[in-house]
Order: sequence, then structure tokens, then C-alpha cells
Amino acid sequence: MFLHIDIDAFFPSAEKARNKDLENKPVVVCMFTKNGKGGAVASASYEARAFGIKAGMPVSRAKALASQDTVFLQADVNYYSFLSREIMQEIAKFGKLEIISIDEAYMEINDFNEARELAVKIKSIIKEKFKISVTVGIGKTRILAKIASKISKPDGLKAIFSLMDVGNYEITVIPGIGKKTAEILNKYGIIKINDLINLGTMKIKEIFPNKYGDYLSLIISDNEASIKFRKKEKQKGKFITLDNETEDKNVIYKNALVLLEKILEEKKEELFSSISLVLVKSDMKNLVKTRKVKPTRNIDMLSNLMKEMINEAVIDKPIRRIGLFLSDFVKVNQKSLTDF
Ligand SMILES: [Mg+2]
Repeated sequence: MFLHIDIDAFFPSAEKARNKDLENKPVVVCMFTKNGKGGAVASASYEARAFGIKAGMPVSRAKALASQDTVFLQADVNYYSFLSREIMQEIAKFGKLEIISIDEAYMEINDFNEARELAVKIKSIIKEKFKISVTVGIGKTRILAKIASKISKPDGLKAIFSLMDVGNYEITVIPGIGKKTAEILNKYGIIKINDLINLGTMKIKEIFPNKYGDYLSLIISDNEASIKFRKKEKQKGKFITLDNETEDKNVIYKNALVLLEKILEEKKEELFSSISLVLVKSDMKNLVKTRKVKPTRNIDMLSNLMKEMINEAVIDKPIRRIGLFLSDFVKVNQKSLTDF
């Protein structure tokens, strides 16, 4: 069995947890533009969602929909990241946690009774310690656990043993079936999950003769053994071409530091869990070094790792280009803010 643990409306909940005045109020957490006039909604509390306010919506639109007492706040991503880590650490006391985003994690549990007990325990402890509610879905597979939490949010607890258990729900509750796919399937008369199950794997693979068809086929067979769930790491990288080729490690370091500063400046809300240095030699061969780190954006830590890698590098030919790549751990920007 798997637990899918999902913090309810995480950003607004985090704001409510530290400010009693926000209790029961509609709260909309936004990413405002620099002048404070524009921007997009990062996440809305359930009270605000009742007005139709959704993540990704322009702030102006949200304001038009909102009630007078709706509170609009600038996203405080450092605080959310910190809180997320605290909450995940607390949950991790109960078992091995697979953290998949800032507000979501899976845990594998041996049997159903144990899973159910644990779910109740996790919910009450997080509420007590952090004043934040979480939904826990229990499923025979990760996908089923995720569907269970999705349809029981907020403050929910639900178990699903087979996709047939949710046969009457629309296909869009299946992770990976978005608007576009749903439209395609609707044309074949597939509206509900039962329709998809009845369609069968052969027909599914006919409609989607690619990996996506394989994915849907596995889902309807309640078989996810070969599906990868971890969020793909996203990389941010930059290259610089040196004015003069060099073997001087100090010069290399200084240039790499400029790249590091630029990346951190451009990716203000990200934590990074790996750093790679690419040195392109005069013969165009690449030298690549990588270090893994605990999620951080601390420039001292990252630049020290960079220095270590440069010191280690055997520079037998002059270097003409330097590249630096950072991989993110939790991506916290507007695109990925939906559902937080
Ligand atoms: Mg959530």
C-alpha cells in the first residue's frame, strides 16, 4: 500500500498558520510583478476557491472575483520551503518518505490497517504541531493513492484498492490526463474512468501509439511497476566563453562564480540539489564534475563546491568555455504552483 500525503492549499494554509487574523478568511497567495500591480495567483485558500479563484489566474481577475475581506499576499517562498521541510521531517519519523514536491510525498506501507492508522496519526500530528491540514490518500499503487487524495481534499482520508473503485469519476482525476487528453478521449465517448477501463489497453494503444498509451494501459491495469514518479529534475545552466583561453584555476573560478550568481539571480525561488561544472578545453573536449547537495541556494556553499571541483579538475589543456548547471529540488514558480 502507498500513502499519498498532500498538504491542503499549502501556501495559504502556511500563511494562516502564522497569522490568526487570517483564520476562516479567503486568502490568495500571489506572485506579484515587481511594480506590485500585475502578477498571478500562486495558490488560493479553499474559501477563496469558492469564488472561482484559481492558481495561475491573473491577480486582476482574482481581485474582480474576490469578496471584500479577501486577503491578497505576496508568496513567501523561503518560509514555505522551510515549513515544508519541517513538516516532511515530522512525517518521515513514521517511515521512508518519497518527497515529490513542496507539499506532496509518498510512503510505502506494508498493509492496509497499518496504512490507515498511520494516515490518521499523520493528519492529527501535523494539525496539532503546525496548524495545517493534510489529506492522505491510500492506494494499492502510488497512482491510486494520489487519486484517493485528489478526490478527498481538503482534510480528507480515503483508500482505493483498484481503479474500478473510482469508476464513476471523470477521467481527469487520473494524474497525467489533462484537458487536451481528456478532449481526445471524450471524442471516443470516454468520459468516466469506467469508460476508460472498458476501452481496454488495445484500443488505448491504438489512440495513443506512444509512451503515453503505455502509461494509460498500465494505469487501467492497476499496474505501475514501470512508471517513474519522481518529478523530473529541471536544470538551469549557463555557459561563458572566455576572452582568452586559460589554465589558471583562479580565473576559471571567478568566471564560474559570475555564472553562479546569474543563475541564482534568475531562479530566485529555487532550491538546488546538484551543481555541475563543465570545462570546455581548447580541443573542444569537455571535463564535467558534479556534486550533490542538500537542497540549498546558499551561495557560499555552492561556490565552495565549485572551488573544490575546479581544484580537483586536471587541466591539461587551456580552457576556453565554462558551463555551470544547477538542478532544482523543489521548483517553486508560477507554472508549478498549481494545486499547492
Ligand atoms: Mg497540496
